[in-house]
Amino acid sequence: MRLILLGPPGCGKGTQAQRLTDKYGIVQLSTGDMLRAAVKDGTPTGLKARDIMARGDLVPDEVVVAIVAERIDQPDAKNGFILDGFPRTVPQAQALDRMLEEKGLKLDGVVELKVDEGILHERIRKRVDEMMARGESVRADDNPEVLEKRVHAYRVQTAPLVLYYREHGTLRTVDGMAPIPDVSAAIDRVLAPPPATAARKKRTRRASQVRKAKAGRTERVAGAGRKSGKKAAARRAPRRKKAAARRLPARKKASGSRRTSVGAASRKSRRKAINKGRGRG
Ligand code: AMP
Repeated sequence: MRLILLGPPGCGKGTQAQRLTDKYGIVQLSTGDMLRAAVKDGTPTGLKARDIMARGDLVPDEVVVAIVAERIDQPDAKNGFILDGFPRTVPQAQALDRMLEEKGLKLDGVVELKVDEGILHERIRKRVDEMMARGESVRADDNPEVLEKRVHAYRVQTAPLVLYYREHGTLRTVDGMAPIPDVSAAIDRVLAPPPATAARKKRTRRASQVRKAKAGRTERVAGAGRKSGKKAAARRAPRRKKAAARRLPARKKASGSRRTSVGAASRKSRRKAINKGRGRG
C-alpha cells in the first residue's frame, strides 16, 4: 500500500498516518520529521533547511525530492509507505510520479483531509499544550505567526495538488473536521476495495465454469464450449423442439395467405382437368 496524506498543517495527517502504518504494516515517511532530524544532526540538508523551516516557508523541491527518493529505497519501505507532508508542490508531485515509475511502483491513493482553516490555530495550540504536558520540546514553527505562513504556503503551493490528483483519479477526500475515530473510519472506507458488483461476480462465476469445462468436467456452460456427440445432441433436441413450437404460429401466419392461393390454384387446375375430361374445356 502506497499512500499520500494531503492537508494543511494541523489537519490531523500525523495522527492518521501513524494509525495507518499499524493497520497496513507500512512506514510513515514524514518529510517534516526527516528535515527536523537533519536540522538536529546538523547535516548539510539540515543546515540548508533550518532557517527556511523556522520561517514557515517551504524547503526547495530538489532538497525534499532527494530525501524522499533515498528514503523509499530503504528496506522497511518495500512493503509500502504513507507520505505525510510530501508532495507539497506540483513539481514535487511530478518528481514523485517519475520516481515511482522508474521503480515500477504505483500509488494506491491520495487522501485529502479537508478542514476549515479557522480550526487549525486551535488544533496547533492544543498540540503545543499536549507536547509541553508530556515534557517534549515544542516545534519552533508551532507558533501563531509561523503557523499563519505555513497555512498560506499550503493554500498557495500545496492546495493545487488537490486538482492534480483529482485529474489523476487517485484523490479521495475525507472530512477532517469530524472527531478522530470518525475521520479514521472515513479513511478506511475510502481505502477499502470497491465491493464486487453483481456483474463482476457473474463474470467471475462464468469464467470459473469455463475453466472447469475446459478441464474436462461435465458441467454445462451456457453459451460456451458446447458439447458434441449423440448424448449432447439428444439433450439439446427437446429444447430445439420447444423453440420451434414457439416460432410456429408466426411462420403459419406469414405463410398462410400463400398456402391458400397455392391451394386455390391447384383446385382450379384440378377442376379444369375434370371438365376437360368431361369435354367442357
Ligand atoms: P511538517 O512537519 O510537515 O509541517 O513540515 C514542517 C516544515 O518542513 C514545513 O513548514 C517546511 O518548511 C518543511 N517541509 C516539510 N515537508 C516539505 C516538503 N515536502 N516540501 C518543502 N518543505 C517541506
